[in-house]
Amino acid sequence: MTTSELIAAVATAPGRGGVGVIRLSGPKLPALTQALIGRTLTPRHAHFARFRAADGTVLDEGIALWFPGPNSFTGEDVLELQGHGSPVVLAMLLKRCIELGARHAEAGEFSKRAFLNGKLDLAQAEAVADLIDAQSEAAARSALKSLDGAFSREVHQLVDQLITLRMLVEATLDFPEEDIDFLEAADARGKLAGIAAQLQAVLATATQGRLLREGAHIVLIGQPNVGKSSLMNALAGEDVAIVTDIAGTTRDTVRELIQLDGVPVHVIDTAGLRETDDVVEKIGIERTWAAIERADLALLLLDSREGVTAHDRAILDRLPATLPVLRVFNKIDLTGEAGGEAGDLRVSAKAGLGLAALRQALLARVGWQGESDAVFIARERHLDAIRRAQGHLDSAGAAYLQIELFAEELRLAQNALSEITGAFTSDDLLGVIFSRFCIGK
Ligand code: GDP
Ligand code: ZN
Repeated sequence: MTTSELIAAVATAPGRGGVGVIRLSGPKLPALTQALIGRTLTPRHAHFARFRAADGTVLDEGIALWFPGPNSFTGEDVLELQGHGSPVVLAMLLKRCIELGARHAEAGEFSKRAFLNGKLDLAQAEAVADLIDAQSEAAARSALKSLDGAFSREVHQLVDQLITLRMLVEATLDFPEEDIDFLEAADARGKLAGIAAQLQAVLATATQGRLLREGAHIVLIGQPNVGKSSLMNALAGEDVAIVTDIAGTTRDTVRELIQLDGVPVHVIDTAGLRETDDVVEKIGIERTWAAIERADLALLLLDSREGVTAHDRAILDRLPATLPVLRVFNKIDLTGEAGGEAGDLRVSAKAGLGLAALRQALLARVGWQGESDAVFIARERHLDAIRRAQGHLDSAGAAYLQIELFAEELRLAQNALSEITGAFTSDDLLGVIFSRFCIGK
């Protein structure tokens, strides 16, 4: 595919760094290279080079890498310029590339080209973005798994089985006199059940993968001094609390990100929820309530010496009725076995008591089934496609005796699954997916 335009973007993160990379992809790169560097490059070799302005002055010096298509990330000719990681130098270098005929790449445009040129399927391209955005080691590992094709292979297997079954059913349509007997003899019903069972297993794994991608959201409720900060630090433990800038969140929503056995857990602190006349604070409080609306679980932390206070009740009363609440009694090092009811979790953040049980309870309540090794990363879009495929398989089963309907439902199930890898997709969907990538990816 060579009809595209030459695109360029800074591929490294904004800000200063030791090295900054500019990536270009598309036609006319040999001419640009000649003008910028003054020589031709050997494919896949690191060349020390001086990058020059139109008047010959040196803009920067660094490494140039030349990947002629189709053996490149995008499948097109690709040039990578590794210069010094100064935003000013990179801006000059990018401007020079634009001067030489490239245009600014859109968000995700390199990955989109890789997809369109068959270098990656859609689930793999999404995994590139998910790897970059990974919020825990387990999330990163599972994104790599998807990038490597683990998810896509499961989908292909299911699609292949569906195709085989469809061929069987559609053959019957051509020979109506054989119909049901023929399908029975070929065990079409059993094959359908087998596919449905396998699809259910893929859904279970994908659900875990989505949890690794999105993370769980826990609302932390508790009076000042019950030990909320101490507990978060104790839970984060060795995995030192990682606080990142998460796209779409703002600093005025009090959030922390910790990892529980590799699952990213966003903790929304309700400490700042109080009546106020301050406009800025009000906005922050509204955001916190909005985050609470989308949470998976509330953790009510109590001082074992005091139990539930009026202040706690006031907050509990305002939580969405559907939000499950886990009551946890802290500071049991001071009270021994007293406090709380049977079944309540009892911990000491300070003395490190009861933390393993709490960790386990939290993970279970947000739907984590443990063992992240086999999990590939997944998105809501994928789960939605799997559920629609399941719906069509159910309908196919119900329509078994009406062979044309049976065949049609199998076709729809196959299409739904094919949306995951992008074999069946629309331009709109691609636009939505790739526009959320960062520039330069
Ligand atoms: P927060 O205001 O809810 O975040 O509470 P902090 O985590 O800041 O803790 C308040 C105080 O309680 C600190 O002095 C902690 O050392 C103490 N604390 C926290 N957890 C425990 C515990 O399990 N046992 C005891 N004895 N003290 C604790
Ligand atoms: Zn605190």
